[in-house]
Amino acid sequence: MSTADIVVVGAGIVGLAVARELALRDPRRRVVVLEREDRVGTHQTGRNSGVVHAGIYYAPGSLKARLCVAGMRELAAYCQARELEYERCGKLIVALDPGELPALDELERRGHANGVPGLRRLDAAGLREIEPHAAGIAALHSPETAIVDFAAIARAYADDLREAGGEVVTDAAVEGIEVRAAAAAESPVVARVGADEPSPVGGPPAGADQPAAGTESAAGASSRRIVLRHRRGEVVAGFAVFCAGAWSDRLATMAGAPADPRIVPFRGSYMRLVANRRELVRGLIYPLPDPRLPFLGVHLTRHLGGDVLIGPTALLAPTNGRRLGATLRWPGTWRMARRWWRTGLTELHHAISPATLTRAAARYVPELQPGDAEPAWAGVRAQAVARDGRLVDDFAFSHTERALHVRNAPSPAATASLAIAKYVADQAERAL
Ligand SMILES: Cc1cc2nc3c(=O)[nH]c(=O)nc-3n(C[C@H](O)[C@H](O)[C@H](O)COP(=O)(O)OP(=O)(O)OC[C@H]3O[C@@H](n4cnc5c(N)ncnc54)[C@H](O)[C@@H]3O)c2cc1C
Repeated sequence: MSTADIVVVGAGIVGLAVARELALRDPRRRVVVLEREDRVGTHQTGRNSGVVHAGIYYAPGSLKARLCVAGMRELAAYCQARELEYERCGKLIVALDPGELPALDELERRGHANGVPGLRRLDAAGLREIEPHAAGIAALHSPETAIVDFAAIARAYADDLREAGGEVVTDAAVEGIEVRAAAAAESPVVARVGADEPSPVGGPPAGADQPAAGTESAAGASSRRIVLRHRRGEVVAGFAVFCAGAWSDRLATMAGAPADPRIVPFRGSYMRLVANRRELVRGLIYPLPDPRLPFLGVHLTRHLGGDVLIGPTALLAPTNGRRLGATLRWPGTWRMARRWWRTGLTELHHAISPATLTRAAARYVPELQPGDAEPAWAGVRAQAVARDGRLVDDFAFSHTERALHVRNAPSPAATASLAIAKYVADQAERAL
């Protein structure tokens, strides 16, 4: 058994940013991160578009809008200070025909309301100056939108945490949660979560962090403690922050939070342009998204290292039998499916036919031919779906005794990670 002042569950970019922030704020505070995999930054953090969003899409005043704009600023400064790659390649959001101009107007309005730096409207000639091979009659250009390696940034956060005296314990899937009086903190934990459930991204890759054992600390002043039983032991802490991505609903309900909203996994598959066609895309080319959905649509994104990816799809994608059962038992899944069946079919088509995905991209870059792209990789988005079938748009949190749960942290949570960390740390400190 080890003790901590604060324990953070999940070593994705959000959990590590939160742990780092809490440790840096008070050097006497002992912060421990528990991670189920054998290294940090797998799952969503290691499999995404790698785009630092500028904050154009989000409803003004929403957490996504505020934390994305602030988070981008902080991330740029952080990457500069830590000498991590940060390439401002810029982004176009393209209207293909006059019918899309009202949607472009709305994004422009939102972008300005959110304070997106440098955002400007382009006509057809202007957009082709930026992306010579792109189609379209008008576009929004966001010059500050950048590309990064979020997994590398997450590893840098973990290094900061360790330097501040914190610890990341890997191979430590949390399996039991209980709040007890401090004196009773050694008695057995009873609640359980599926420890044997396989990971949705498969086995952890090589280059794993070395597991480390916890050490003693004075765990705060409260007489109540949260006890987290994990695969390799127990941690007794004054407070816990859960940043568990696709597992966040299970851990929250296990700690006594309401079941609503539930995480429904959406598979995002990508294609990669073959090397001699990469020059067709200089930066980032995005469609106008369906404003009713929290997904940005199939886009063309340049990645650090030169790859140009097409994707991701957004296919409802239970990742294993147990999760399939949980997804299908949730009433919101059925209500959502009824509402979105047309989109679901389109996305399924993308998933089963790489040629269709490439054709979708060719609407924006007409020179693209089906043979110009090859299958790349896929990530799984953890998207919260409410009981009524609504896809939860904003970042969402819930509280239980001695704990705060990040319930919905989809894109742009990687961009916003440093700002989310401040927001969560403020709440955790208030609760402590
Ligand atoms: C296809 C795709 C494209 C995206 N593109 C972008 C983009 O361009 N820009 C952007 O800003 N965002 C993007 N996102 C979103 C971004 O990747 C996520 O918002 C962000 O990574 C969320 O981080 P996280 O730490 O909350 O989750 P994760 O990275 O999923 O981390 C959760 C962690 O919790 C751990 N965990 C779970 N259960 C337990 C347990 N019981 N015990 C211990 N540990 C546990 C998991 O192993 C995992 O490491 C994209 C996401 C996807 C999937």
